[in-house]
Amino acid sequence: MTDSAVRVRFAPSPTGALHLGGVRTALLNWLYARHTGGRMILRIDDTDLARSSEVHLRQILDGFRWLGLTFDEGIEEGGPFGPYRQSQRLEIYRRHLDGLLHRGLAYPCYCSPEELKAAREAAQKAGETPRYPGTCRRLTAGERAALEATGRRPVYRLRVDLDRPVIVDDLVRGRVEFGPDQLDDFVIFKSDGWPTYHFATVVDDMEMGITHVIRAEEHLSNTPRHVVLFQMLGGQTPAFAHVPMILAPDRTKLSKRHGATSVEEFRELGFLPQALLNYCLLLGWSPGDEEEILSLDEAVKRFSIERIVKHAAVYDIHKLEWINGHYLRSLPVEQVWKHALPFFQKAGYVSSEPDEKEAAAALARFDAVRERVHTLVGVVDAVSYFYRPVTEYDAKGVRKHFQRPEVADLLEAARTTLETVESWDVSTLETTYRALIERRGIKGGELIHPTRLALTGRTVGPGLFDVMALLGREKTLERLAQAIRYLRTEAAAPTSPAGG
Ligand code: GLU
Repeated sequence: MTDSAVRVRFAPSPTGALHLGGVRTALLNWLYARHTGGRMILRIDDTDLARSSEVHLRQILDGFRWLGLTFDEGIEEGGPFGPYRQSQRLEIYRRHLDGLLHRGLAYPCYCSPEELKAAREAAQKAGETPRYPGTCRRLTAGERAALEATGRRPVYRLRVDLDRPVIVDDLVRGRVEFGPDQLDDFVIFKSDGWPTYHFATVVDDMEMGITHVIRAEEHLSNTPRHVVLFQMLGGQTPAFAHVPMILAPDRTKLSKRHGATSVEEFRELGFLPQALLNYCLLLGWSPGDEEEILSLDEAVKRFSIERIVKHAAVYDIHKLEWINGHYLRSLPVEQVWKHALPFFQKAGYVSSEPDEKEAAAALARFDAVRERVHTLVGVVDAVSYFYRPVTEYDAKGVRKHFQRPEVADLLEAARTTLETVESWDVSTLETTYRALIERRGIKGGELIHPTRLALTGRTVGPGLFDVMALLGREKTLERLAQAIRYLRTEAAAPTSPAGG
């Protein structure tokens, strides 16, 4: 389907990092834009000047760059409806406020916070829904001037006169009705001279020609105000789709105490952008079959708003790890290596500017282990023995593979044989080992398992001959010697191998 009229936006407030929920909202908008051939806009909702920061803005932009989600219009891309930062659009909001004031649809309100609080409490006491009592609705010009003269700075309220409910035909939630008593004369401009979230959002959605607002469910209760504003400003009301919450495994609101929640944190934990996007997709959208692995391209093809999930999604880190493991082992190795390299560098395994040889060696080691791990942090651990000496043998491995008295002699024989191998490659190493196994009349595992423990300190890992080839001749021979020494002096030093 191509409907190039579609215009959607993601409108984060740079008051915090980019979280899972934000990624999901952005992704659903992005997919809809890409699916329909429409436009995806990034607007920065930074009218809360005190809480907004450049640091968070950078984090958000970096997060999207890393995820690979692109925008057609935005603060970096520009576009015909800019500026795309609300803090730079004050004049536009003022113009619309003036228009409303001129038509008598908005008015200044001088009530102090204390007066409003008293009115709220009185309503609560009387068992009524607190609403603005309309004190300043009908002030004369003279009364206003007198209040101004006392130094009071007004907020501006919308004059809301509803005689019937506001209907929101939500594309996810269906028809939702809000009775007239649920809306009062709400504030559209604050006394600090800045518009409220409601006003800035509606003015921008209108000015920017937004056709579909796909956003978090927490904004559903704001939507009747937005609908009223669209009508009073004379704009086209967009379609709304409110996406259910993401809950923590204990079904409470997902927060920091449930572990990583921001894109930056997931990145540092070694998740791949492909996996995080795939996971966020499943948190917000159902492919309609059992499939769980969906590339972005496929998701673009299949996306529809109708399949946005209707019930709260429950966050499950194990699922994310599973998906990450999938992408880690199945994407082309160079594509994943780009993300893995910084982890190798941070661990000190690869220099900051590796030459081709160093990078190729590291990539080969990465490729050997990626099959078995779930995250890039797991990768760093899985390759550690290529870069660091073996200082410990897995205790269970020692009991299983180092206990028999002939192991030291076997490893000795292996070491002697390997010393004479001419070409240090996987197939020569394998042939050599198999021949030795045959000569000794033992089972393969009797030599292979102790060798693995000697070379890596572990009982699991990539194929042994791959390990040998990647470790190189020198380190392989050294570690065999180290294990032989350890086995022969085992009684004196039970678990830690001597030497480097
Ligand atoms: N800045 C708002 C938020 O971050 C945007 C809400 C909306 O999409 O209208 O929640």
